[in-house]
Amino acid sequence: MSDLEYKVIVGLEIHVQLATRTKMFCSCELGFGQEPNTSVCPVCLGMPGSLPVMNKQAFEYSVMAGLALNCNIPSFTKWDRKSYYYPDLPKNYQISQYDLPMSEHGYIEIPLEDGSTKKIRILRAHLEEDAGKNTHTLGNFTAVDLNRAGTPLLEIVTEPDLSSGAEVKALAVELQRIVRYLGVSEADMQKGHMRFEPNVNLHITRGGQLYKTPISEVKNLNSFRALEGSVTYEAARQLDEFLETGITMESGNKRTYGWDDENNRTVLQREKEEAHDYRYFPDPDLVPVVMTPEWLDDIRSRLCEMPLAMEKRFVTEYGLSEYDAGVITSEKATADLFDNAVKAGADPKRVCNILTQTGAKLAKDKECSVAELGVNSENLTALAKMIDDGDVGASAAAQVFELMVETGDTPGQVAEKHNLIQKSDASEIESLVDAVLADNAQAVEQVQAGGKKSKKARGFIMGQVMQRSKGQANPKVVNQILAKKLG
Ligand SMILES: [Zn+2]
Repeated sequence: MSDLEYKVIVGLEIHVQLATRTKMFCSCELGFGQEPNTSVCPVCLGMPGSLPVMNKQAFEYSVMAGLALNCNIPSFTKWDRKSYYYPDLPKNYQISQYDLPMSEHGYIEIPLEDGSTKKIRILRAHLEEDAGKNTHTLGNFTAVDLNRAGTPLLEIVTEPDLSSGAEVKALAVELQRIVRYLGVSEADMQKGHMRFEPNVNLHITRGGQLYKTPISEVKNLNSFRALEGSVTYEAARQLDEFLETGITMESGNKRTYGWDDENNRTVLQREKEEAHDYRYFPDPDLVPVVMTPEWLDDIRSRLCEMPLAMEKRFVTEYGLSEYDAGVITSEKATADLFDNAVKAGADPKRVCNILTQTGAKLAKDKECSVAELGVNSENLTALAKMIDDGDVGASAAAQVFELMVETGDTPGQVAEKHNLIQKSDASEIESLVDAVLADNAQAVEQVQAGGKKSKKARGFIMGQVMQRSKGQANPKVVNQILAKKLG
């Protein structure tokens, strides 16, 4: 048994809900938490004679995502009907894309824990509409809510290039960051905006022979924790199963699992994949989409710098630590705020500290993001410069930032109004020091005598000066003057 080695092989299917105002093929509004069946029309209910019309914004959003995932965008794509019967799908078919998806053959670069990155190939990404939802709130009856029917979904399918639960989670986190940077999805997991289905199996080498375990597909995961947990669990379970039974993959023994969140384990749902025949055929009600080079250029011009590229730039150009760069780029608006302040001349580390310390604490209290605190980059730059110039001390700077958030004033105005300007004027401080020295002859003697009590006495004098200046004297300048006067 000691010669046994194995690799975990994972491919991922992800559904991302696009952040359009209306549905994929009708003008019903998308919403969350509305009364059941209030955002529906003949088109999304599949009434006879109603005709779908493509939502152009949903298509453009999906192309933006496809470009960000380094995919080819073909010049011709069409809509297909995927036929199946389900109570929450009154048309008996779902409009999707079959053989000619709107994007294919790309990759996503994911950050690994050791600081390196890994490219995961993307097989395809296509657009489709969501089905409705069955609810079980009516006692013995199942109710159907069709508000969700027709919601635009981008389905992304990766190649089986992932090799651990941690990598799968890293991909999900990176994808969330990308679609949020692009503004094409809110990617709110709690609202089901991102749903994951990993396909997991093992490639086991024993005695020079390769064995592949049956593939497990885990359905409908909507948290990073469940996603990572299910892959890790499946890998361990499949190894145990192989050692016990020697079972390997044959055609048709793919199994479907659900995730039990309470007990952190997968639960078998179906032993054998039912032989699906979706009878795909082109949707006769929708015209194919022809992507012209001009249109594609126009969509490409709406892309922004991608989060991982920005994170790397903050490390190499601005000298941030990888940790700080990760925190700053977790959200685009905060990353832009930081970037703009630095471009306007602020010290990167200084701005980073303001945002990740005072800013993050305040944002947590207010339950918003750092950028949503409303401090603009000009004021941020000004505050960073005031700290560098010694106009405000460290604790005063935190106070200034908080007051900026409350009032919207510039840091200069805030610091003036609340007497937080640090005094660095040497002659002013010198007269303050002289007064303190005159009043504390005993402490002065102790300092000059040297020995044990000297350090303590010096600290006392320093404290007296700071007290008389109401905390506004620049401690550096005070120290310089004390050194000159006391030796
Ligand atoms: Zn509708």
